[in-house]
Amino acid sequence: NINQAVISDGIDELRSSTRGDVLTPSDGAYEEVRRIWNALIDRHPGAILRCSGTADVAAAVKWARKHDIEVSVRGGGHNVGGRAVCDGGLMIDLSRMRSVYVDPVAKTVRAQGGALLGDVDRETHIFGLAVPLGVVSQTGIGGLVTGGGFGWQSRKRGASCDNVIEMEIVTAEGGVLTASAEENADLFWGVRGGGGNFGVVTSFLFRAYDLATVVGGLIAYARDAGAQVLRGYRDFTMNAPEDLTVYAGFIWGPDGTPLTALVPCWIGDDKEAGKKAIEPLTKLGEPLMVEIGEMPFPAMQAMLDEAYAPGSRNYWKSAYLENLSDAAIDEIVRQAEGMTIPGSALLIEHTAGATLHRDANDNALASRGWDYLLGVMPMWQDAKDDEEQIAWARNATDAMEPYSSGMAYANYVSEGDEAIMEPSFGDNLKRLREVKRKYDPGNFFHLNANIAP
Ligand code: FAD
Repeated sequence: NINQAVISDGIDELRSSTRGDVLTPSDGAYEEVRRIWNALIDRHPGAILRCSGTADVAAAVKWARKHDIEVSVRGGGHNVGGRAVCDGGLMIDLSRMRSVYVDPVAKTVRAQGGALLGDVDRETHIFGLAVPLGVVSQTGIGGLVTGGGFGWQSRKRGASCDNVIEMEIVTAEGGVLTASAEENADLFWGVRGGGGNFGVVTSFLFRAYDLATVVGGLIAYARDAGAQVLRGYRDFTMNAPEDLTVYAGFIWGPDGTPLTALVPCWIGDDKEAGKKAIEPLTKLGEPLMVEIGEMPFPAMQAMLDEAYAPGSRNYWKSAYLENLSDAAIDEIVRQAEGMTIPGSALLIEHTAGATLHRDANDNALASRGWDYLLGVMPMWQDAKDDEEQIAWARNATDAMEPYSSGMAYANYVSEGDEAIMEPSFGDNLKRLREVKRKYDPGNFFHLNANIAP
């Protein structure tokens, strides 16, 4: 394609203006880097720059602008819609920018834009601290934090983006800006929830909290007990303290047994109180398995890694649910009957919390105020199943419409479903457009939860 020709001609210029590796399809590492978590996405960038630092990111942006080349930005490569990778253009790969520095006195953490959750957790843990991030350690902070970020701490401490103090950002002009409450406040507002629309975040400064160990694990019931367990889960979560977050899901055992699972995580100081608080969740029926205990926070963060290993085909849909009425639960149970391939999941994340629900205009993350986030997440291996699995997820989500907010979680939007992105910014969309017009009027950064300028 036309970009390929321009890239070939200009590649020496890119090489000479950067320090990181420039990979083209003939390089050995190209194949590994162009692949992302979701094997359903199979795109081939014309070139990949493995950036060695902020200066490389800025040089890549300037080079791509000069030659009118499309760019994608790869953080952890976990975006289910594959927004980290383009066909024919330049992938700005941040996977070598994963340094993390902790200030244990100020309780702040500076992390480079390509760091994974596990990189941050590892460095904070030696100081007994943790940053509110997601629940799978291989996910990139770049996409997760700019798009919101929900995990075990968010009910109590807000979304990941609520815990950003400052960012260093490479803009669409190839300049470098600081964004904070004091500097470029409009950009600071927009990037926290507005995703990769405004630039490449080369580093984040986070607030961290005392959190060394948690009480958590897995409680599994038979899938047949699903309706009863979800009713119990609903009643329980409606009164659960903010120190405790519980996800529920229809998942599968290692041998393919269909299960109804609860994953609790207690972040409070009093671990005995945590164990007591979790106990009622083991009595919602006859559990097949109860594995609950105190563990280091990074162990909790890695507990789900294996279930979400890269390389499978995935298609996700999401819906915020106002509540879990009996009718909503019955519909979820009905839709689960169409989930046929082990590895797939119907997940319910409990997202109610005073901090998480605060004024939606504080930053650009608009999808607040609903108590549960439903994820419809088929996972499969064979391309021949693509159509059927995608159709199941779409139909199941449609069936949940009467109970849903009409918004999706921007970080869970699959390829082909981009139309849901803008409505998911709710009342913040107008201001987001203004910020987009100011910082990226030409929509240079468009492979993201895109806001048309
Ligand atoms: P990438 O695929 O690398 O990038 C995706 C998008 O983010 C691109 O548009 C890119 O431009 C932008 N981007 C990436 N890095 C930067 C940067 N430094 N600056 C600017 N823009 C950037 N979400 C949660 O909230 N909580 C969870 O617990 C959670 N768990 C997950 C578990 C799994 C297994 C997976 C696959 C996803 C999970 N997610 C979760 C969703 C996750 O937030 C998104 O997939 C997110 O896009 C991942 O970020 P990434 O950097 O890995 O993405």
